[in-house]
Amino acid sequence: MAMVFCRNCGKEIKKTANICTYCKTSWFSKKHENPAIPDGIKGWSWGAFTFNGIWAIGNRTWVGLLSFIPIVGIIMCVILGIKGREWAWRNKEWESIEHFNRVQKKWSFWGGVLIITVISLDIASAFLAVPAYQDYVQQTKNNMNLNQNYK
Ligand SMILES: [Zn+2]
Repeated sequence: MAMVFCRNCGKEIKKTANICTYCKTSWFSKKHENPAIPDGIKGWSWGAFTFNGIWAIGNRTWVGLLSFIPIVGIIMCVILGIKGREWAWRNKEWESIEHFNRVQKKWSFWGGVLIITVISLDIASAFLAVPAYQDYVQQTKNNMNLNQNYK
């Protein structure tokens, strides 16, 4: 039997139940529009922060598509990092908190991989760029010396 979390009280109920056995809230009640978030959902999301728009599609959190807009997108990335997990919890159907966290962990893992890759490439290019620049300066000096010697 598939279980879902009551969007009002957060307790586990049968997916087919129209009324929560704990708080007696109808599954179709207005309360579901502003549901409580169970423990273990809130928190910073590296996945949402890093992948923003892609994460938003994967987690059915359409407000995250705002991150594709320039400038607004930068702010949206941070908002997604903070609120993303809560939104994803509400917007998509999850088997359990455990399932939710398993999926979000994957997003965060690849987010981490992406961040580390980008930072490593930046450092690597700095290490390549500095000697290249020094070579260029040295060559320019040499050329100038050569030109002076010809005079
Ligand atoms: Zn309930």
